[in-house]
Amino acid sequence: MSEPTLFQKIIDGEVDADIVYDDDHCVAFRDINPQAPTHILIVPRKPIPSLDDLQEEDREIVGHLFIAARNIARDEGLRDGYRTVINCGDDGGQTVYHLHLHLLGGRRMDWPPG
Ligand code: IMP
Repeated sequence: MSEPTLFQKIIDGEVDADIVYDDDHCVAFRDINPQAPTHILIVPRKPIPSLDDLQEEDREIVGHLFIAARNIARDEGLRDGYRTVINCGDDGGQTVYHLHLHLLGGRRMDWPPG
């Protein structure tokens, strides 16, 4: 068995996090190094390493992450918009290999990203 990721340890309650939402399929907590006034990570309970590892059977989980993001954005009062990001692989800037959706808001976002 491979070593559980940091996010798996947060899901399992072994590492503290500022959890804002959780349900049967995902856990959402505040990013420790926020890049916007609101920066929340939405993480499936299933330990899928990255977007590139998604299976057909994961369709529902991915949809679930986005619906959760929409609901959390509403709860956070992000009425003027927000950004969702999934970094994939080293070139995509992924550092934790447990799939996660970034939800960023509370300021005007730039484009293109760095
Ligand atoms: P990635 O670069 O897309 O893989 O995103 C990983 C994110 O996890 C980064 O934005 C980090 O700031 C964040 N992060 C790392 N460690 C922790 C932690 O212990 N709690 C919450 N967020 C974390």
